[in-house]
Amino acid sequence: MNVYDSHRIGSILKNLGYTPTSSIAQADLVIFNTCHIREKAAEKVFSDLGRLKIIKDERSANGLDTIIGLVGCVVQAEDEEIARRVPFVDFATGPLTYHRLPEILQKVSKDRETTIIDTEFPAESKFDFLPQNTSMGGASFLAIQEGCNNFCTYCIVPYTRGVETSRPINDIISEAKILVAEGSVEINLLGQNVNSFHGIDQSGKERNLAYLLRELAEIDGLKRIRYTTSYPADVDQDLIECHRDLPQLMPYLHLPVQSGSDKILKAMNRRHSRGQYLDIVGKLKDARKDLQFSSDFIVGFPGETDSDFEDTLDLVNKVKFCQAFSFKYSRRAGTPAAIMPNQVAENIKKERLNILQNLLSSHQLSFNKESIGKIMPVLFDIKGRHKGELIGRTPYMQNLHAEIGKDFCNKIVNVKVIEATVNSLSGIVEGK
Ligand code: SAH
Ligand code: SF4
Repeated sequence: MNVYDSHRIGSILKNLGYTPTSSIAQADLVIFNTCHIREKAAEKVFSDLGRLKIIKDERSANGLDTIIGLVGCVVQAEDEEIARRVPFVDFATGPLTYHRLPEILQKVSKDRETTIIDTEFPAESKFDFLPQNTSMGGASFLAIQEGCNNFCTYCIVPYTRGVETSRPINDIISEAKILVAEGSVEINLLGQNVNSFHGIDQSGKERNLAYLLRELAEIDGLKRIRYTTSYPADVDQDLIECHRDLPQLMPYLHLPVQSGSDKILKAMNRRHSRGQYLDIVGKLKDARKDLQFSSDFIVGFPGETDSDFEDTLDLVNKVKFCQAFSFKYSRRAGTPAAIMPNQVAENIKKERLNILQNLLSSHQLSFNKESIGKIMPVLFDIKGRHKGELIGRTPYMQNLHAEIGKDFCNKIVNVKVIEATVNSLSGIVEGK
């Protein structure tokens, strides 16, 4: 979502006459798009800003002005901290208000002394004010839903991205058509809780994600559709059937479970049990045999015992995720879990994370190794480090490297997999 937001911010700035530079020392304007999900991400912003202040002072000594801005969830959650800790920041605006950047920058240029902070939850939808979304290459992001009403007890998102809202179906379809016309063959639909989507159609009727997926699948030239991130309890029968019926829907689903222990899931206020999660995974696999899952895990949630953690390992062994993201529980001020008793000691969190990540990696490696010898359609869209090397993604979201030359960039090409490691595959183009 943040990559997507940064892309949209880039479009606003382009319209204002800015061009990107790869050297910070040359930048007249630097914007940090920030994440508040864990303490580490949030703290990184403040240390990066410290380094930037030195550059700003050096530029100033040479008569050059530098505008520094912050966007994103850190702003929403820590506006007072920003004014106190980094007063040299010129403006700060939340994830729902960055469409106001043109006005904000105008205010900044009139007043170089005050930090302009805009953290109001806006009545308007930013999507109605942003410049047209543009293709990011072969694969593009398209936000269809924002915010979250789930209030998992550890999570800051409902407080920073606000309540759940869905974009109208027509807006999404016309945006998707533009992205395809500009060369995207894959679209990844984004939302914090994307499968709770309930956007209105032309007649004002609320429609679900399955309806939207079927409409998108009608677009000529759109070869791959993905959606991220889904909430397990909101996977309905309609959505399961889309995985059965739509070949464009890629056989990889990110479906965060967080924990394998019912006690912890309850304390997390997740609306699914371990059994329900496994049941949904089973139903999805029945609908599409080759469907693979990735997930998010939190270890060391308050009250997590060795036996709760064992339940998580057991669930991992049952599902055999092809990829996963796992984190130590991080206390976020203002969330219910931050003040729960029985906080888990840092060394235990570290140890559990280590064990979990080793297990997840072993499954990931076995899955990747099973790909060796297979021929897979790969969408290449990133230049690799070696000459002629491109990096792309298989249907199962594995990164694949191949030496095939830039002519294949942003195209789907059949590749024979010859090597596999935990994090990537390499292959040779079929028939080349
Ligand atoms: N909406 C998605 C995920 C959004 S946040 C969902 O419900 O699954 C992305 C991931 O960050 C979460 O899945 C969770 O695993 C992790 N996360 C969120 N808050 C966290 C916290 N306080 N400490 C550690 N990890 C956290
Ligand atoms: Fe956070 Fe996801 Fe839970 Fe919403 S569903 S509160 S975004 S973890």
